[in-house]
Amino acid sequence: MDQKSVIRLSHCDKDIYCFFVPDQCPECGVSFSGKRLEEAPVSVPSPFSNGHKEPCAFLVTSTDVLRDFDGSSDLHTGISNTSGTVYSYTRSGVQRESQGWERCVCVPLVHTHMFSLRSQWDQYLEQFSSAHTWDPASHSFDEESHNCYSFSLMFINCVLATQSKPALSKDEFTRSFVLPRIKRASKYMMLCREISQNHFYIVDSTHRDSGQGPSEDDDSKNK
Ligand SMILES: [Zn+2]
Repeated sequence: MDQKSVIRLSHCDKDIYCFFVPDQCPECGVSFSGKRLEEAPVSVPSPFSNGHKEPCAFLVTSTDVLRDFDGSSDLHTGISNTSGTVYSYTRSGVQRESQGWERCVCVPLVHTHMFSLRSQWDQYLEQFSSAHTWDPASHSFDEESHNCYSFSLMFINCVLATQSKPALSKDEFTRSFVLPRIKRASKYMMLCREISQNHFYIVDSTHRDSGQGPSEDDDSKNK
């Protein structure tokens, strides 16, 4: 999916999201040409990254590019090795893919300075994936309890165990690491849809000083 990048500018006490800086303010009509904006337009960082370029990461991708991350699409998860091959568990066993995960929400799992873990990562992942648990002949896929998510989380917990760290429950992992990023992706997709349809997405300015995406309460600010 061809993804334009979103920029934000401020005028008339509004935050104006768009794909390119307009000639005039969509609120008051004042021409921007030859004038300096009150604040320089900032680009809203995309919440997506190419999973094949994110080594040692937990990745979430959408199985439906048209509705991706809008809350109704099916999501698929996997783990990347150090060279960008993504391991994921499906009904037909563990897949090892070097393409198809170009648009992902990414949770990095290993700091760059953790050399010894990095050096063993591929071996851990390969061994883990070859276990009977993931062999369709001995265990069958289960939508609820034996799926791509349990594969990914169980691997993370195996790695944590090698580091003598406590395991993460599904709820903890989801709440702390996955949901905040999925929410950001949904918001960003909402922005893209609004801008595609109406050229702009305009909300009351919240005078944030960072280049982060819209905050949780953007939609409810109506003073
Ligand atoms: Zn204006």
